[in-house]
Amino acid sequence: MADLAVFAQSNTAARIRSAASRGTLSHALIFSGASDRVIAARYAAAGYVCTAEGERPCLQCAHCRKVMADIHPDVNYVRDSEHKELSAETVRAMRSDTFIRPNEAERKVYIFEDCSILNVRDQNILLKTIEEGPSYCAFLFCAENSAALLQTIRSRCVEWKLGGTDTVPDSDRADAIELCRLSAKGSAASRAAFTAKLENGKRKRDDLCALFEEARLLFADALLAQYGAEPEDAQVAQGLAKHLTRAKLMRMIELLDSYRRYCGYNVSAGSTLGGFAVEWERILTR
Ligand SMILES: [Zn+2]
Repeated sequence: MADLAVFAQSNTAARIRSAASRGTLSHALIFSGASDRVIAARYAAAGYVCTAEGERPCLQCAHCRKVMADIHPDVNYVRDSEHKELSAETVRAMRSDTFIRPNEAERKVYIFEDCSILNVRDQNILLKTIEEGPSYCAFLFCAENSAALLQTIRSRCVEWKLGGTDTVPDSDRADAIELCRLSAKGSAASRAAFTAKLENGKRKRDDLCALFEEARLLFADALLAQYGAEPEDAQVAQGLAKHLTRAKLMRMIELLDSYRRYCGYNVSAGSTLGGFAVEWERILTR
């Protein structure tokens, strides 16, 4: 039970709390990396079901305590102890279960502690559930390497890489902040130079994915700031909130979300960036 309380001190936990408290935690997450994957997934699960007024998960309320004790009826571990790979029956039973509303909480969470037990057939069954399942469902995948999952699944999930000092490398974070700053104040030429710099930097699709997701969270913060919420990164979010209309913020959030997904497809980083640059400019100048 103490493991979640210890994990709560980490940077990753702070980022999960921030997203969960704002309601911006995606309904499909991959926790990858060398350590703490399942703990991070349980912590996020608590974030979905926690009923605290302030930061979530609080690890104090009845819901959090049940998650910590692994007895929450709406936090399900998808396991199949009898087979090496998850049987099709287990996955189908899980899919049927998603249509039964949560017992106690607002959300229903499914945790896959080890994605290496998911074969291609399992993943194809899961794909539809992730895409079309009830909105109260959340799916958390744990894998040392997210390549254990099909591209089609990965493109529908937000990946959290664990094991470093932070989940987002400093360079991605700095680029995300720069993207926001240029959205608020930059010229068309400075934005073109920025995407060219990313392209010349030979960014991998995974890096771009992290960059788009980080920027999306900052834009989401800016939108919340316009509605009176206290943003996490006050300087960046308030700069955006001051210079962009609500409609533009919303369109940027959608744009970043779709480009984060494109990174999951087999498209080169260069053409992804090219497409992004055109649409980014269109939103800001229209
Ligand atoms: Zn709680």
